[in-house]
Amino acid sequence: MIRSTCPYCGTGCGVLVGPDGAVKGDPDHPANRGRLCSKGSALGETVGPRGRLLQPEIGGQAASWDQALDLVADKFSMAIRDHGPESVALYVSGQLLTEDYYVANKLMKGFIGSANIDTNSRLCMASAVAGHRRAFGTDTVPGLYEDFELADLVLLVGSNLAWCHPVLFQRLTEARARGTKVVVIDPRRTSTCEIADLHLPIAAGADAALFNLLLAEAARRGLKPVPCEGLEAALHAAEATDPAASGLSVQEIQALYDLWFASEKTVTAWSMGINQSDSGTDKVNAILNLHLATGRIGKPGMGPFSLTGQPNAMGGREVGGLANMLACHLNIEDPAHRAAVQDFWAAPRMAEKPGLKAVDMFRAVEAGKIKALWIICTNPAVSMPEADRVARAIAGCEFVVVSDMMAETDTLRLAHVKLPATGWGEKDGTVTNSERRISRQRPFRAPMGQARADWWQLAQAARRMGFAGFDWTHPAQIFAEHAALSGVAGSLGSDFDISDHAGISIADYDALTPFLWPANARQRGGRFFSTGQFHHADGKARLIAVTPRPVAAPLILNTGRVRDHWHTASRTGLSPRLSAHMAEPYLEIHPDDARRIGLAADGLAEVTGQGGRALLRVTVSDRVPPGHPFAPIHWTGETSAAGRVSALADGRTDRISGQPALKAAAVAVRPF
Ligand code: SF4
Repeated sequence: MIRSTCPYCGTGCGVLVGPDGAVKGDPDHPANRGRLCSKGSALGETVGPRGRLLQPEIGGQAASWDQALDLVADKFSMAIRDHGPESVALYVSGQLLTEDYYVANKLMKGFIGSANIDTNSRLCMASAVAGHRRAFGTDTVPGLYEDFELADLVLLVGSNLAWCHPVLFQRLTEARARGTKVVVIDPRRTSTCEIADLHLPIAAGADAALFNLLLAEAARRGLKPVPCEGLEAALHAAEATDPAASGLSVQEIQALYDLWFASEKTVTAWSMGINQSDSGTDKVNAILNLHLATGRIGKPGMGPFSLTGQPNAMGGREVGGLANMLACHLNIEDPAHRAAVQDFWAAPRMAEKPGLKAVDMFRAVEAGKIKALWIICTNPAVSMPEADRVARAIAGCEFVVVSDMMAETDTLRLAHVKLPATGWGEKDGTVTNSERRISRQRPFRAPMGQARADWWQLAQAARRMGFAGFDWTHPAQIFAEHAALSGVAGSLGSDFDISDHAGISIADYDALTPFLWPANARQRGGRFFSTGQFHHADGKARLIAVTPRPVAAPLILNTGRVRDHWHTASRTGLSPRLSAHMAEPYLEIHPDDARRIGLAADGLAEVTGQGGRALLRVTVSDRVPPGHPFAPIHWTGETSAAGRVSALADGRTDRISGQPALKAAAVAVRPF
């Protein structure tokens, strides 16, 4: 049996793969202890040659790797020579392995000399990153999965845990059977509500108002703040919050108070319902304010907990794979941090300022400012807000490279050069899950056709561009380099330190068992901030004064995942079993709205947003509140040109994190 890690959600479950390719849960992996969800257990059905891109192509014609990589290196070098380093960009993915991510970030920030590398994680958890950095001085998830089981009360905010992190949901369900109370704060009555002691159908975008109300009530009953600054201003903003802004009744708010103040051991876990908002960072800080002011952080069963959607969003944060970050949680705007990384890499030309975040990056592509674009392991022509506009921008770019394992994605069709990438089962590297646990993804089959690892493709292009320092022959060497750099970062005060693994051998890398960071001689694993020491210069946390900004429009489209599909379904769509759960794109709409608009159940609705138009099958249901229909994100131009719901969203972003407001698109709906 080969031990590996599921490539879907941020839970990061361990799997055992048999010689016949059958997959079962790894009983020794701390994240899942043998459990798997429907997607994980169907992994064996999604590996194979079907739909794979098997060889490089240039202009739609088969090419050799040498021809393709020479062309990529030439085009990027020419753009940099003629228009400067800001004229090129990489757009990568929270599904890359950490080693792939590390090489992409090193090439862009240290050798090309621009920070124009951003990732689909910008759409996923950038507001959590920004909120952590404001409050803690660093992007750190303080707690562990076991806190869900040790808590007396778990608040789930903007998270359909039952469908989006199913194994963590199973662990919470078992904890609830032992007495843990569960509150679900979500406008929708999702499957997660099946275990809720209290469901609060909050108004769209009103999460910050609710957490402000809790903070103000906590102040009335007596706070236990950690060492912090900003408490007075945060309380002032909290006390000014109108309870009506939450959209909840006085009784519902009181029911939350009764649970919160009866239980000190409390975890507040949030996901995309908080992050995917144009005030997402403030919402995150409203949650963090409450935990910091009540001292519920860094202790068993207590803390705020950001649930990452993708399998390696955390690894991307660790290597600095966002346009506004440096490697190993160092600060790109700090000259001493840049100098240390430049010295370590022996880098000729360090980026000196943050680069373009995802929405701005594709606007720069549209404006012709980006001359060469390399998209890796993601499908922005479907998944970005204003997806139709993004697709047109990519189609108009002078030179586009796309690396992907699948042959027919909406984005790949727009590429001048297509590079076949290895997929799950062929990949070899590491990922980090939501609780900071680093696990191995191990290969159990040979790469399909001429597919090669993403790190290899990037390193080959870098070498052809004349850069030294890209000579690895095995991912273990990249991991060892990353670990050594984390030791440098640790000496500069970074919390991300895995320097115990600097110099790891290939044999030890192959045998690596899942471990929590930090992993260094000073501190190993465990919770952060238990001593009340934070990463701001004065060692104190920061509370932020948050003024809630609820969204308002006659119809606000909420978007999200279904249980059995992943992202744009390029893999899960290969499994008939998974596809059977939800067969087609749909609009779930409240009966009052359906009646007013004239929609019939099972009919078709035409949904128009600022970014585009979609046709969706109508499901009439009181699981969604009036004015807030819901549509899933997974359908693409391949399966249904009508189902691309990201095309409906406008390009509004959070002013701090740059995360798009994918959870709240103002739309018009009519029968079709
Ligand atoms: Fe994979 Fe997430 Fe399911 Fe675990 S819970 S098996 S990581 S999809």
